[in-house]
Amino acid sequence: MAEKNIYEDGLRPTGEFTTDQLGKPVQSDAHSLTSGGPDGVIALHDTYVVEKLAAFDRERVPERVVHAKGGGAFGELEITEDVSEYTRAAVFQKGTKTPMLARFSTVAGEQGSPDTWRDPRGFALKFYTTEGNLDIVGNNTPIFFIRDGIKFPDFIHSQKRLPGSGLRDNTMQWDFWTQSPESAHQVTYLMGSRGIPKNWRHMNGYGSHTYQWVNEAGERFWVKYHFISEQGVEGLTGEEAAHIAGQDADAHRRDLYDSIDKGDFPAWSVEVQIMPYEDGKTYKVNPFDVTKTISHKDYPRKKIGRFVLNQNPLNYFAQIEQAAFSPGNTVPGHEISPDKMLMTRVFSYPDTHRHRIGANFADLPVNYPHYAENNSYSHDGPMRYTFKAPTQPVYAPNTVGGPVAGQGVKPADEMRWETDGEMVRAAATLRAEDDDFSQPGKLYSEVMDAEEQQILVDNIAGHVGDVQDETIKERAFQYWENVHPELGKRVREAEAANRGADAKYV
Ligand code: NDP
Repeated sequence: MAEKNIYEDGLRPTGEFTTDQLGKPVQSDAHSLTSGGPDGVIALHDTYVVEKLAAFDRERVPERVVHAKGGGAFGELEITEDVSEYTRAAVFQKGTKTPMLARFSTVAGEQGSPDTWRDPRGFALKFYTTEGNLDIVGNNTPIFFIRDGIKFPDFIHSQKRLPGSGLRDNTMQWDFWTQSPESAHQVTYLMGSRGIPKNWRHMNGYGSHTYQWVNEAGERFWVKYHFISEQGVEGLTGEEAAHIAGQDADAHRRDLYDSIDKGDFPAWSVEVQIMPYEDGKTYKVNPFDVTKTISHKDYPRKKIGRFVLNQNPLNYFAQIEQAAFSPGNTVPGHEISPDKMLMTRVFSYPDTHRHRIGANFADLPVNYPHYAENNSYSHDGPMRYTFKAPTQPVYAPNTVGGPVAGQGVKPADEMRWETDGEMVRAAATLRAEDDDFSQPGKLYSEVMDAEEQQILVDNIAGHVGDVQDETIKERAFQYWENVHPELGKRVREAEAANRGADAKYV
């Protein structure tokens, strides 16, 4: 791949004297121009003070409604195994090295909120491939709270703040969760020992959704991505996390930055579970339900490469705050699946970027397809930077040599699958093991050791203890009894024991 420094694109040289934004040397950064002596009024034609204040007033773009607080770094993905029988994507061919960006984040907290609040962590990856930018935008958990994006605004409202007091509220969190039993798997993760990662380096990432791979012959496979931390997985207790939050709200952003700065580059093993297309129709759980995992025993993880983060952003705002990810940014050979949470995200992410960054967000260096051509007929709009030669046609079809759709792709690259039946509003068809509680029950009883089980019980009991409504609290106990009778019993007992005690750190 051609040598190109993506992270230096946009970097301006530092000069010796201060100028305004258009290059004119300025007189002073301390004194405005006043008429009638030093005590006079400020002249409106002091364009420098006007520009300086106006630029300052516009320094922020709206923060993301979710995943507002984060940090990230650049790096490189290297594929070390041959998976060409499953995907024709250039980025996944053996020996290919691809520049990339990773952004990690919390979900519910706003800009400036502590990095160590209990929350899933966003794990967003952008690969600058020769076939366009590929984004895999997942979390540090293999699952999610809900399976249909129509619930997403309600879910997030319940995790954020009360409309009156502006405070976060455990009562509304449990009110939502207990009436959305599909959340049980993710809440088990959230309340477990992995619910607050030690830092972003010590957590796994997951594509979470099932995606589709397409090979050269047009054959399709379902694929799940796992990014396994080479640093190991480590978590914080609620008490440790609360302590760190009070000392350093940016602890995770700082940890990543400092590690890379001193040459200690974090890395993740890139692994996939591959399911033949036909198996997707009959597998025991619906593989397009993001509240479920696909068992490693049925479809073992296969290592295909690794990525390393080795370059800090040169400018946080330009390169991380303005980074625009979307699971809809796919490449030939990697497509989406009929996961209803994924399909709504494919709409919502670019919609968010158009709103918060602007219609031409893809023109910014951090979002631009550096190793593929942008041959789109879209043009103009606010803040447009790149453009085509004046002789290039601006419409299609044309007979004057403009780019032609359908070249460089195969019909099989289209995002597609088979459906039958009427247009309906309904949950996906249930499979043999499609219930909301078995997988979290297994996580508790078969995967967690005794210490992790105790951490889970204590965290749930502490969190439920803050629920102000007894009906909702009772529903929470039943929710955990459904996950596993023993877990429900232990949570009930621990919560009763906590009553009257000091607030717990969860
Ligand atoms: P396995 O025993 O093969 O896999 C269990 C996986 O659980 C481990 O590989 C590890 O995944 C993860 N894990 C280990 N400790 C914890 C913990 N304390 N909290 C959360 N996750 C942990 O069994 P199955 O694949 O059949 O899955 C059994 C259960 O394990 C599932 O119901 C699900 O809850 C959970 N799980 C499954 C995953 C999957 O993709 N199949 C992924 C993660 C969890 P990792 O190496 O990714 O850390």
